Amino acid sequence: MEKALKHRCPVCGMDVDVPADYMPGELVEHECGVVLELVENGGRLQLRVFGGVEEDWGE
Ligand SMILES: [Zn+2]
Repeated sequence: MEKALKHRCPVCGMDVDVPADYMPGELVEHECGVVLELVENGGRLQLRVFGGVEEDWGE
């Protein structure tokens, strides 16, 4: 059974609820106020702090 995935906020270290059907590039606002970007890296989901870093968004 697929559950919502648990990930750690890189800023505050608290759990972040990530929907199992997340879309790469999706933005999630965490309770600590930071906006996290969901990025896939080698098939693994990583949370990255959004903003400040300029990236090529593409489509
Ligand atoms: Zn946080």
